[in-house]
Amino acid sequence: MAKVLYEKDIQQEVLKNKKIAVVGYGSQGHAHALNLHESGYDVVVGLRAGKSQKKAEEDGFTVKSVADAVNEADVVMVLLPDEQQTQVYNESIKDNLKAGNAIAFAHGFNIHFSQIVPPEDVDVFLVAPKGPGHLVRRTYQEGAGVPALYGIYQDVSGNAKELALAYAQGIGAARAGVLETSFQEETETDLFGEQAVLCGGVTSLIKAGFETLTEAGYQPEVAYFECLHEMKLIVDLLYEGGLENMRYSISDTAQWGDFVSGPKVIDEGTKARMKEILTDVQTGKFAKGWILENQANRPQFNAINAKENSHPIEKVGRELRELMPFVKQPLQNKQIKQKD
Ligand code: NDP
Ligand code: MG
Ligand code: MG
Repeated sequence: MAKVLYEKDIQQEVLKNKKIAVVGYGSQGHAHALNLHESGYDVVVGLRAGKSQKKAEEDGFTVKSVADAVNEADVVMVLLPDEQQTQVYNESIKDNLKAGNAIAFAHGFNIHFSQIVPPEDVDVFLVAPKGPGHLVRRTYQEGAGVPALYGIYQDVSGNAKELALAYAQGIGAARAGVLETSFQEETETDLFGEQAVLCGGVTSLIKAGFETLTEAGYQPEVAYFECLHEMKLIVDLLYEGGLENMRYSISDTAQWGDFVSGPKVIDEGTKARMKEILTDVQTGKFAKGWILENQANRPQFNAINAKENSHPIEKVGRELRELMPFVKQPLQNKQIKQKD
């Protein structure tokens, strides 16, 4: 099994007398900045003027322009949206990095796909929490943490690994466990997972089930419960104890249906198409498409998004959730956009 590191395995000294610039104060940024600060580290937040800037100041941080924050920092964690990182890096980060500094990321996309090419005299590392930012923050406050992956792209100081681990500990991840990866592995598995399984796979499965039932004349409300609402209960069981635990909790009829029908829905053809998706991730074809889509101001993204939001399952879902206030997220979680 892969080696999992905990707080006892990690030295903090290497990061203690360093200034950390957290660039961005969104889902991940607010969690990293607050957790690092409460772990005793010296944090400055780098931002443009705007909503996040106000929030970071309300939380007690000194907020500077990205350029000024990077200029005074030893370690720079880039927590901007992946699509914005290259531009901000070129305009405000690159020229303010000094030899011996470290630049870090929570996702490997821009380094792995060469959108950002860091100077040769800085350390480059990755600390990628395996959960949304609000959870990174909440678990830290509860005395726990969200597990994280760490990886090293460039080790100039000879201490890049120790720095990454101390950083992971600072955000609380070492309370839950820290695993080694590479920028390549983190980027490719993250992109594949969200496309084929977690986001793309699940939404397509839910919609196909809903459409099959409603096209056969069943009520959309009932189809919504069967294909979307109950998904959470099943996922919670999977999360807590894997497939066996989920199957233990469902009826034997449901389990028999799982065995005989699951492989008909997701078959060898599905797996072959998953392999194509993985190949497109590995060759950079997916990354190129997404980068160009952004350069063109997202014409396809916006068109598909509008169409998806008006799918009948969304309409019936909005109505049903109004009748079920208990399923709504607490406000605090809602304000901080949840992503993978
Ligand atoms: P968010 O979209 O939540 O936050 C982005 C932040 O960047 C905001 O504070 C925003 O401020 C700021 N920002 C955007 N554009 C600029 C700009 N041009 N100049 C300065 N500041 C800007 O991002 P996430 O936290 O979701 O993602 C950050 C990184 O973390 C990404 O690399 C992502 O892949 C990674 N990650 C995210 C996870 C998640 O759960 N969300 C999980 C693991 C990794 P403003 O209010 O001004 O727009
Ligand atoms: Mg992702
Ligand atoms: Mg049922």
